Amino acid sequence: MRRVSIFGATGSIGQNTVDLIKRAPDDYDVVALTGGGNIAQLARDAKDLRAEVAVTCYPEKLPQLRAALAGTGIEVAAGDAAIAEAAARPADWVMSAIVGAAGLVPGLEALKQGTTLALANKESLVTAGPLLMGTARTHGATVLPVDSEHSAVFQGLIGEDIAAVERIIITASGGAFRDWPLEAIASATVADASSHPNWDMGQRITIDSASMFNKSLELIETKEFFGVKPDQIETVVHPESLIHALVGFNDGALMAHVGPPDMRHAIGFALHWPERKHLPVDRLDLAAIAQLTFRAPDDARYPALRLARDVMEIGGMAGAAFNGAKEKALDLFIGEKIGFLEMAQVVEGVLNRMDQQNCLRNAATDLDTVQAADHMARKIAQELSATV
Ligand code: NAD
Ligand code: MG
Repeated sequence: MRRVSIFGATGSIGQNTVDLIKRAPDDYDVVALTGGGNIAQLARDAKDLRAEVAVTCYPEKLPQLRAALAGTGIEVAAGDAAIAEAAARPADWVMSAIVGAAGLVPGLEALKQGTTLALANKESLVTAGPLLMGTARTHGATVLPVDSEHSAVFQGLIGEDIAAVERIIITASGGAFRDWPLEAIASATVADASSHPNWDMGQRITIDSASMFNKSLELIETKEFFGVKPDQIETVVHPESLIHALVGFNDGALMAHVGPPDMRHAIGFALHWPERKHLPVDRLDLAAIAQLTFRAPDDARYPALRLARDVMEIGGMAGAAFNGAKEKALDLFIGEKIGFLEMAQVVEGVLNRMDQQNCLRNAATDLDTVQAADHMARKIAQELSATV
């Protein structure tokens, strides 16, 4: 029996993970499940999977969770500290699928137990890549990528020497507005940005796909995870979302990972690694697909890509500032306080201001420094939102 925990169990990645675990309940001992406001889902899964503890991030929801699990013997808890405590419970495999920088502390706590961390929460690598990967090394823990592109690269590198890698190409669907006229994007609504052409995901990552902030996080994630240089990382728009990434080697060969847009592949790969096991994903019929297309990303349409390049060049706290500013700008867009294109303006303004104040080119990698940069970025983003 493998002891497993799922952080962000009620979300899109979390539910896909629950689906895979439910298919083989006798193989797993479920330690912790965490969620947010969807208490009914959290309680149902905790019961079905006979979890040891269920945690909601919202303290005010604790009575509801307690009532839903009364008499089951399942422990209940609430709040950020309780989530961190649940992450510190020994487990063999932990899914990190909280959305946003809130996933960082639980991820670090899990790594300190020497676990295998399946990392969907790309924000923690962008915010604190050296801290996260360093913590894994110190504690003999393993980090496996769950983002589909990074899982694809990881699979392309099996048996290969990273020194023979010339470039990594991360594909992008182009998101909801890839075919919109540029002028129309300025007035795009939250509803417009919340539907993805190919993937069914949480609302925040779906909007980030439309702006390509998601892709910019993924470029930084590639640098932090695989340790390659920024100029070795490319992106190409691939509207079909069937090739997830390609690895280019020094002999000119490109190894592509091709699969249906179903996150249960990347999640299942991480769950069974280093073995491969049967997964319930569609098998592609290439003749029916007939063609795959590619186009260069347009910098005017996707300013977030240029900002990601700046962040990778600056290093230090630029990732923490970028992600914090991006999360705040996204909150403001969802709250209809700023327009779609103003998100990138706000983030760029935050990076400029923090660089002028010498807050980015910082050699420290500890959690306090990271969290201070994240908080400062959110505060400046709020200020700047009044001026865009
Ligand atoms: P989601 O919004 O569907 O789910 C997020 C989960 O995190 C929920 O369980 C929610 O209750 C919990 N949560 C939200 N805020 C929290 C907080 N402050 N503290 C603790 N828990 C909190 O998101 P998702 O689409 O499943 O994405 C999860 C992560 O996986 C993100 O980092 C995202 O970038 C990444 N990811 C998602 C997909 C996808 O297909 N959905 C693909 C690749 C990567
Ligand atoms: Mg991805």
